[in-house]
Amino acid sequence: NIDSSKYLVNVYHIKGKKIIHLQDITPFEIYKQAKKDFVSNVSHELKTPISVLKSAMETIEDEIKDSNILKFVDMAKKRINQMDSLINDLLILARLESQEDLVKKKKYLLRKQVEDIFEDLQHLTKDKNIKLKNNIPKNFEVYADEQKLSIALKNLIENAIKYNVQNGIVEVNAKTDGKYDTISVIDTGIGIPPESIPLVFERFYRVDKSRSRNIGGTGLGLSIVKHITEAHKGKVWVESQVGKGSRFYIKIPKT
Ligand code: ADP
Repeated sequence: NIDSSKYLVNVYHIKGKKIIHLQDITPFEIYKQAKKDFVSNVSHELKTPISVLKSAMETIEDEIKDSNILKFVDMAKKRINQMDSLINDLLILARLESQEDLVKKKKYLLRKQVEDIFEDLQHLTKDKNIKLKNNIPKNFEVYADEQKLSIALKNLIENAIKYNVQNGIVEVNAKTDGKYDTISVIDTGIGIPPESIPLVFERFYRVDKSRSRNIGGTGLGLSIVKHITEAHKGKVWVESQVGKGSRFYIKIPKT
């Protein structure tokens, strides 16, 4: 009856005798938990001042008409939104890493979920006139944590829009082999250079900082996608060609 969260157990057989070696890992577990709590607490504490700043900026914007000052207000608003996204992504990661946040799977229809995400992201398609195509068959069911898969797909679809070109296309497909479902998010965008492909799922990695700076982002989106997919005992990967586009795949078991 050894608590494996408290001890690392090694069993040795020496000269016919069994030796059990217990290593107390409680300090390590306490440290890991403290690290997670820290990220989560700091993120929570930052959310309030950021939202106060956001509404203050909106009030200032309403009150002043001087275009020179408005320029600075606009700059400040962009930075505040950037911090807000970063805090949200850090909170998502902290929650995903905490043991309390288990994956709650159920069967549901995927097409509707993708439809809802498209609706949420519609406003991002306007600038470059991006076309969104939902190719998920009507009755296609997945077995997943609905909220978490939604976060993962939203990240992939948002990237497919952000890193796309004028009049580009974003398509979402799904297929099954009976054991696994594979969902793909395909874009006609700028693509990812081969040397960056192994790195894009790493935290804070962004391809070509100067290219990405104009396009908002935290560099955490794909590491969140990876985390969620792996929590479903699945895999995520990408195929891409510079100047042609990218295909991201999520493969998760049906049971
Ligand atoms: P970000 O917040 O920067 O979008 P992500 O973790 O979602 O962070 O993605 C990491 C990097 O991978 C991005 O900065 C971008 O350079 C590249 N990337 C992600 N998705 C795509 C895509 N669909 N097409 C081209 N590049 C992409």
